[in-house]
Amino acid sequence: MTPQTDVHELPRVHDLLGVGIGPFNLSLAALCDGVPGLRALFLDAKPDFSWHPGLLLDGTTLQVPFLADLVTMADPTSPWSYLNYLREHDRMFPFFFSERFHIPRREYDHYCRWVAGRLSSCRFDARVTELAWDEGAEAFAVTYRSAAGASTRVLARHVVLGVGTQPVVPEPLLPLLTGGSGHRGRVLHSADYRTHRVELAALDDVTVIGAGQSGAEVVLDLLRQQPVGDGAGAGVGGPYVRWLARTPAFAPMEYSKIGLEHFTPDYIRYFRGLPERRREQLVREQWQLYKGVSEETLAAIHDELYERTVGGTEPRTALHPGVAVVEAEPLPGGGGGYRLTCLHTERDERFEVRTSAIVSATGYAAVRPAFLEPLSKLVDWDGKSRYRIDADYRVTLAPHVSGGLYVQNAELHTHGVSAPDLTLGAWRAATILNAVAGRTVLRLPERAAWTTFGVPDTL
Ligand SMILES: Cc1cc2nc3c(=O)[nH]c(=O)nc-3n(C[C@H](O)[C@H](O)[C@H](O)COP(=O)(O)OP(=O)(O)OC[C@H]3O[C@@H](n4cnc5c(N)ncnc54)[C@H](O)[C@@H]3O)c2cc1C
Repeated sequence: MTPQTDVHELPRVHDLLGVGIGPFNLSLAALCDGVPGLRALFLDAKPDFSWHPGLLLDGTTLQVPFLADLVTMADPTSPWSYLNYLREHDRMFPFFFSERFHIPRREYDHYCRWVAGRLSSCRFDARVTELAWDEGAEAFAVTYRSAAGASTRVLARHVVLGVGTQPVVPEPLLPLLTGGSGHRGRVLHSADYRTHRVELAALDDVTVIGAGQSGAEVVLDLLRQQPVGDGAGAGVGGPYVRWLARTPAFAPMEYSKIGLEHFTPDYIRYFRGLPERRREQLVREQWQLYKGVSEETLAAIHDELYERTVGGTEPRTALHPGVAVVEAEPLPGGGGGYRLTCLHTERDERFEVRTSAIVSATGYAAVRPAFLEPLSKLVDWDGKSRYRIDADYRVTLAPHVSGGLYVQNAELHTHGVSAPDLTLGAWRAATILNAVAGRTVLRLPERAAWTTFGVPDTL
């Protein structure tokens, strides 16, 4: 279809416009609902809500308790709580008897769809293509486009970016991932795993790179494709599964009660006060707070291996920690398959791996959205071209810009490891709502942790 060139103008100036409807801006949309006089609009490029569909695997659960839903940690009385979702779907009794704090990821997705589908402020099939400051209107001008090519321009006094993060792949794999369709379904990021899992399960050898939660879940899913034998070597099938991790161990994610206090407003306050270099060092050092694997998933992998080796059957699996992939190329001859050159980082020795497919479970990172370009000169970027962000998640702009630009999940460098975590989602959204409204719409706790992170006032 030919894109339309004329731009439709929405007449109203909105108080708040959210770009992106992932869990974080959906949380803000839910908290804004019913706030008297607040005109809010949220836009997302997708045709409807979906939460990481490439990793919605059977048996996977949320890594945080269900209380970290879209609203409860800031407003448990909201009709958009997970408990109210259960009531509306007549699932309260089954949920009660299941006694589970960590709900299926599939149900979290369904719950978010339920909220997004009922909030009149949420609009899908609306890709934001431009964000500029309109001096005359003293408002942000936001242009968005539908898949059919219709463009709309809308004004908003405040804008909240909730555009999520983008998949990251190690440098050696980049040419294979971007080099045309020849490697499609054979070299992929874990974000696309579910689309290709049936094809992958039919191969003889799959290599998974990355020892985070996604990598572990992909390994577990592939392992489960190997039939359990009878202890006499029978039952061969499913792919050989190789797991490569740069970290020195397949380490569990920190989940102790006191350790989790790093996911509190108290820790964010402390972290923001540290010098930049120290903050960066801490984010690297604290990888186990947000990059490890849940103990349950590690245990499940062990259980699968145990089952499959009954009677002395050799495991069709290899687990390699402390290994970095330094080169990757297709095997010569055009018959398919790849050669990976790996470096064992502690022994400083190289070895080679041949495999039929590669799943890069190597995480995500925040990127600067292209639609921000018209505003770029008005943003006070830090020395590394990142946003400067205040305690209310407001980005520092040129002083004459009276409107606020806020971010969610782009503040790892300023606010620390809780940025991508769902635990603080509702609290952060409420902080932004209070700032945009210029008053306390939702009261937030002064103190949330038992730990004193800085120097104590009195000893
Ligand atoms: C598989 C997986 C499982 C996770 N599980 C957990 C967990 O259990 N617990 C936890 O604490 N954290 C978890 N996380 C981390 C994190 O909380 C989630 O990634 C969360 O989805 C981040 O939400 P978000 O709103 O920032 O972004 P996203 O969910 O990525 O949503 C961003 C949205 O912005 C839209 N968008 C982008 N650009 C535009 C544009 N130009 N115009 C319009 N729309 C746009 C996209 O279409 C998308 O819908 C998980 C992450 C992954 C990948």
